[in-house]
Parts: sequence; C-alpha cells; structure tokens
Amino acid sequence: MAKSLVELCAEVVTAQAQSRQMTSDEVAGSIRAVFQTLQELNQYIPEPHENRTDTQDALMLLRRQPHQAFQRTKVYCLECGKPFKLLSNRHLSTHGLTPRSYKQKWGFPLRTSLSAQTLTARRRQLAKARGMGNALAEWRATRQQTAAL
Ligand SMILES: [Zn+2]
Repeated sequence: MAKSLVELCAEVVTAQAQSRQMTSDEVAGSIRAVFQTLQELNQYIPEPHENRTDTQDALMLLRRQPHQAFQRTKVYCLECGKPFKLLSNRHLSTHGLTPRSYKQKWGFPLRTSLSAQTLTARRRQLAKARGMGNALAEWRATRQQTAAL
C-alpha cells in the first residue's frame, strides 16, 4: 500500500532532524513546508492510468510548431498525432473539423495543402503537366482553326 502524505512527510522531516540539530520550531516549520511541498507534488504527478505515450509527447511538440507536421513523406494530424499521406476531409471530420477550420485552428494559410511534402510536390507537377497539356491542346485547336481558314 502507498504511504500517506503524512507518513512520507514524517520520514522526510525525521531524516532532516537526524542530519542536524533542529529546534522544535524548526521541526514544526519543516513539517509544514515539507507537507505543503508533498501536497503540491502530489497534484502534479500524473495518475498511473494516465500513462502518457510517446505519441502524446510528440503531439505536444508538434502543436507548438505546427509547420513541423508537414514532413517529406507524411503529414501528422495535429488533433490526434497520427501520420498520413494526406489529411482527408473524412479524417478531419472525425475531429469535427473541415480542412478550412483545421487550417484556421492551427494557423496555416488557407491555401496550404494538407498533404506530405512529396505528395504536394507531385501534385504540383501533375497540375503543371495538366496545365501544359491544356495549353498544348488549345494551341493545336487554334492552329487547326487557323489552318482551316
Ligand atoms: Zn486526427
């Protein structure tokens, strides 16, 4: 069984009193101080069932620097700390968020793409290629029209 705070306090003060001469006032003062400290500590020591995990620690760090959530091959959800290639609308909705409200909440510009860096880059390339394709198609169409004239 765990020691009560009073027992723990008595032990600490007894140890102190043994290591040097203390007046009864000092002992009383010491008991008060130690007991108060123990009580304060007791409030801050997490209960065993809270069991913080590495994921939670990592999440706390990420939340302090949200842009770190975007990594080369994955993007971390700042709500739950899970890694994804892409933060989907569906996943964000499990946190009651939309991509827009998620970005607002964590201070990302609204044009931010909620995906891993490599995926974002590839999409950009694809969009560019598509854009060039469209431009080419337009150019051909115009040329055909011109030729038909
Ligand atoms: Zn999440």
